[in-house]
Amino acid sequence: MRINEQSLKRNPPWTRDELILALELYLRNPASPPSKTSPEVQDLSALLNKLGQVLGRGDHEKFRNANGVYMKMMNFRRFDPDYTATGKVGLTRGNKDEQAVWNEFAADQTRLKIVANAIRQAIVLPAADEADEMEDGVIEAEEGRLLTRLHCRKERSRKLVEQKKLLALKKFGKLQCEACLFDFEKSYGPRGKGFIEAHHTKPVETLVEGSKTKLEDLTLLCANCHRMVHSARPWLSMAELKQLLRH
Ligand SMILES: [Zn+2]
Ligand SMILES: [Zn+2]
Repeated sequence: MRINEQSLKRNPPWTRDELILALELYLRNPASPPSKTSPEVQDLSALLNKLGQVLGRGDHEKFRNANGVYMKMMNFRRFDPDYTATGKVGLTRGNKDEQAVWNEFAADQTRLKIVANAIRQAIVLPAADEADEMEDGVIEAEEGRLLTRLHCRKERSRKLVEQKKLLALKKFGKLQCEACLFDFEKSYGPRGKGFIEAHHTKPVETLVEGSKTKLEDLTLLCANCHRMVHSARPWLSMAELKQLLRH
């Protein structure tokens, strides 16, 4: 009981979504990051609190306050070659995802901005409920939990997936994995009839809540191939998946 109370009091570790937003703010002006009392830091603090609610965390009283946001920018600073070149070291305490997020995004600020914007837009999503939990075997995308959830939700949109299947049946007379050609009905008989999964191929940072998914954004995959796509970061593109299968 006591342990639980203590762990409740600890501020939860930063998620990728949050790190991406903090990195984006830091890199806007790395030579002179906004101060703790600046509107930029205050705004990000408020935004992260909203994000915390959406992801079902963040009831800690100091959750992502202005001080925490500022410190996180200073954590990122230790990876910044322009800063360390001057012999300074930055704040060393931080979590392991910081380095990963820095490596994945710092060199491509155009993408960083796009992803950060997509996260900001997706924060209007309703709070997490059970149906939104990420499926087993789906590793959170580079772009964070919120956009991962949006991806999974789009793939589960029944109506669209049914339309996609109907189209494939009409075109090919069967349902088969677009990567490895596995055909559930052929292998499993009547039990496999109509069975296939849909994978949403658009980059997650282009997903916007409420935006229309087009049939051509979906690819039909067998359960194995779909799992492999999502089993590690970064997720595989269809070209990469097919490349793997060729070996
Ligand atoms: Zn397959
Ligand atoms: Zn997928």
